[in-house]
Amino acid sequence: MPIRWRLTLWFSLIVCAILVLSGIFIHTLLKNDLRSEVDDDLKIYSAKVHGTLHHEEVPDPLDYDVIHSNLAELPINEFALPGIYFQVIDQNGNVVTKSDNLGKQELPLDTALIERGFAGQVDIATVSAGEGADLRMMVSPLFIQDETLLLEVAQSLQHINDTMGQLQWILVISVIVALGVALVSGAVLARRALAPVERITATAETIEKSSDLGRRVGYTGPKDEIGHLAATFDHMIDHIDRVFKSQKDFVADASHDLRSPLTVFQGNLDLLKRNLNAEDRQESLDAMGREIEKMSAIVNDLLLLAEIESGPVNQDQAVNLKEILLEGLRQAQRSAGKNSVIEGTIEEISIKGNPHRISQLLANLIDNAIRYTPEEGTITLSLLRDGDWARLEIMDNGIGIPPEHLPHLFDRFYRVDRARSRAGSGTGLGLAIVKGIAEQHGGKVTLISEPGKGSTFTVWLKL
Ligand code: ADP
Repeated sequence: MPIRWRLTLWFSLIVCAILVLSGIFIHTLLKNDLRSEVDDDLKIYSAKVHGTLHHEEVPDPLDYDVIHSNLAELPINEFALPGIYFQVIDQNGNVVTKSDNLGKQELPLDTALIERGFAGQVDIATVSAGEGADLRMMVSPLFIQDETLLLEVAQSLQHINDTMGQLQWILVISVIVALGVALVSGAVLARRALAPVERITATAETIEKSSDLGRRVGYTGPKDEIGHLAATFDHMIDHIDRVFKSQKDFVADASHDLRSPLTVFQGNLDLLKRNLNAEDRQESLDAMGREIEKMSAIVNDLLLLAEIESGPVNQDQAVNLKEILLEGLRQAQRSAGKNSVIEGTIEEISIKGNPHRISQLLANLIDNAIRYTPEEGTITLSLLRDGDWARLEIMDNGIGIPPEHLPHLFDRFYRVDRARSRAGSGTGLGLAIVKGIAEQHGGKVTLISEPGKGSTFTVWLKL
């Protein structure tokens, strides 16, 4: 069952339950209240009868006519105690006297109630008066001279029963109407509230069917839970879209970068099949060697990158950063040509991590610094402690990087300009590897660069 219907049903059921319970409560309360009012009236009336008889002189032996005339003068205000009947019976059940408003009728005789009355109890009960009518009746013994008579005081419950019956209908009808209103309004509200969820589902289905990651929910409603869900969904699709595009670019770049050396290789192979002189033959072989070198560099970098991106491995060895930096410095000095590679501030710092990866990171940065620094430039290596971080700085006064390239510099296969590299272009994977290794060690890489003045790459590693 759709959530919309479930919500509507629950909502309506709760409204219905509240109304039924409050209806029962009101009905019971009113009925008891009206009944107790009747009982109070009966008690007042009964007390007045008792008072009248005891204050009058009743002859001995008993003269029922005297009782009758006494009771006929009862000080009862008919407007204050309306529709109340009385009847006095003797022990044989004969009616001794009764109120004039009974006319020719008599109050019904309820044996159990009469027995309790003659046993000396004052009691009130509901008694059937035939044809579906009920009476509320109070019995009390009347001890006059040596005789015991029974006073019955009663009032019809007809008007209360009628009122309660009407109230019952009103309550049933209001519950039915409220249930209908709750069902309709609940359905409308639930539909409205869940409309964005349906939009999200529809967008997800369209994306799934058409593989079009350009679609978004574009929810503009209030920033509530649903708004949050819609925004999160759009952000997630943004992210997946970016990842997808970058994967696509990556495959395209990788294929392109591997195809170029293969084309050169194929061309030289074709040349070699012809009858070349020794010099041309050697040239083709050299060219093929260079392309193979390029290809293996790309494949090695790709493998390394895949390994780094597959997650942290063997990260808890002690890494003496100073040692690694000095080793990197020595190697760089050997391959720097006319550039000088010098020591900046180098502190004694060790971290936990993978020493091979850190060496690789450093080698990539030093290699770039040498490659993108014209002859007789200076590359300075520093290692400093900065709060909770170890700061590894590789500073050169080379060609620098134009600001528009900075945001993409760490992307795979991104190269600022193949032609400007002094010693031929690299794979374009070096900085992606540097970033991957730094992040694997819970760190980051920052860069300050100015075209024509040089660049400073700073690797931040958690101590
Ligand atoms: P590559 O293999 O092409 O060097 P990288 O990922 O290592 O690939 O570097 C990406 C680009 O960043 C390079 O093509 C180069 O243009 C630029 N770059 C990297 N380091 C420096 C540097 N120290 N000075 C100037 N440009 C640099």
